[in-house]
Amino acid sequence: MSSEITKMVIGIDDTDSREGMCTTYLCALLRDELSSFAQVISEPILVRLNPTIPFKTRGNASVALFIECDDKEKIIGHVTDKVSSMACLDNENTNPGVVFVDEEQFDSVSDKLSSFFKRAVKDVITIDEAKELASELNLEFQAFKNGRGLIGALSACGAMLDPDWDHTYEFLAYREKDVWGTRRSVDESSLFEADKQTYPDTWDTVDLVNDMVVCVPHSGDPVLYGIRGKDAGSVKKAASFVVSEPVERVCIYRTNQGTDMHLVSVSSISDIEEMHSYILEGEVCSEPVTIRGGHTIFMLKDVSGDVIDCAAFEPTKNFRELIRKLIPGDRVVVYGSVTENTINIEKIKITELSKAYDIRNPPCPSCGKRMKSSGSGQGYRCKKCSTSSDIPEKTEVKRDIVPGFYEVPPCARRHLAKQLLRFKNEEVPVFSGR
Ligand code: ATP
Repeated sequence: MSSEITKMVIGIDDTDSREGMCTTYLCALLRDELSSFAQVISEPILVRLNPTIPFKTRGNASVALFIECDDKEKIIGHVTDKVSSMACLDNENTNPGVVFVDEEQFDSVSDKLSSFFKRAVKDVITIDEAKELASELNLEFQAFKNGRGLIGALSACGAMLDPDWDHTYEFLAYREKDVWGTRRSVDESSLFEADKQTYPDTWDTVDLVNDMVVCVPHSGDPVLYGIRGKDAGSVKKAASFVVSEPVERVCIYRTNQGTDMHLVSVSSISDIEEMHSYILEGEVCSEPVTIRGGHTIFMLKDVSGDVIDCAAFEPTKNFRELIRKLIPGDRVVVYGSVTENTINIEKIKITELSKAYDIRNPPCPSCGKRMKSSGSGQGYRCKKCSTSSDIPEKTEVKRDIVPGFYEVPPCARRHLAKQLLRFKNEEVPVFSGR
């Protein structure tokens, strides 16, 4: 048994199922339990990884703790026991992974783990790659069942060991165990007040345009509500306004939520792959159409003439009204993830508007009445005066939209999507939606 004081980073992932639990809850519980025999250093990390991964339960989250202790083996034993007893191991999609990085290893493993974390946010990684990295770096780890959770656990360790990534904060309040799975009791007006008192230092607590609460989940997990914001003080202040059922424990996390860390800039559609997320500039090349289910879709063309569908899905609510106003020829930059050959738009920058025209049959130069069409491609004729014309009357009409940077409303925000209020010095006006 070692009695030397040492620091340790612990990464955990994939402990939950749709029916219950939440890896962040396990992290909060461990932080509180470990504090009786270790010192917890800094806020725990909550990172969101590639949002398109099909194995995710909900938001593809993974967590890490940073502690100082004098008995490593005791910590490893406690964490491993807790994960085995609390993870939903009976669920076929729950494959926990736990990674322990010892202080002596920090210098030698930080760069590789940090790169792995950044790849896990953007890319698709295999379980074998994760196992190979853990072995190559000589890390202590536990892989339960197929061990997929190692991907997230290694990533969270990488995030903890790398101080250089854009971050925000989330205050999570957890429910008492005996009410898990029942309807949550949170006073809605107190959430609107929390938002009013702390916006724009906190965000996405409520959605004012759609008159909805955003920060209270609906699934059976232990989270009561989560307040997101720019620093620990702001999210804590917002939470002080919330009136709710009893809270079992709270935890403030440092997180990559709201940072756009998942997005890769590309100029060509041929570089786009499924299950990745992009920033792509192009020209609108079809009228937007709204299909069954209320999803609005248009086609975007890149410099080489390749096209891809871009969608504002039904949950993006009022954002679809903006998308419906686009016309062919508009120049835009879209931000979003690609699945089934379609970009799921999270934000859009409209940089240039094409001219829109009202096209009508031309007036007869003799009698002034509108001529009749002579059939497709055959021009126009006035039957009474026998005049004809090949050219329709084209009048430019004012567009009901202005160039600018637009985002989906808070009720449709994806965890990693950077809120427009976090952007600075944009070349077009920013229309922060909320
Ligand atoms: P919750 O939001 O409730 O915490 P979750 O949505 O985080 O749940 P998990 O149960 O953690 O979902 O499942 C996601 C799984 O996908 C994990 O095993 C994780 O290691 C793995 N994973 C995460 N990122 C990637 C990636 N980039 N490539 C491949 N697998 C990944």
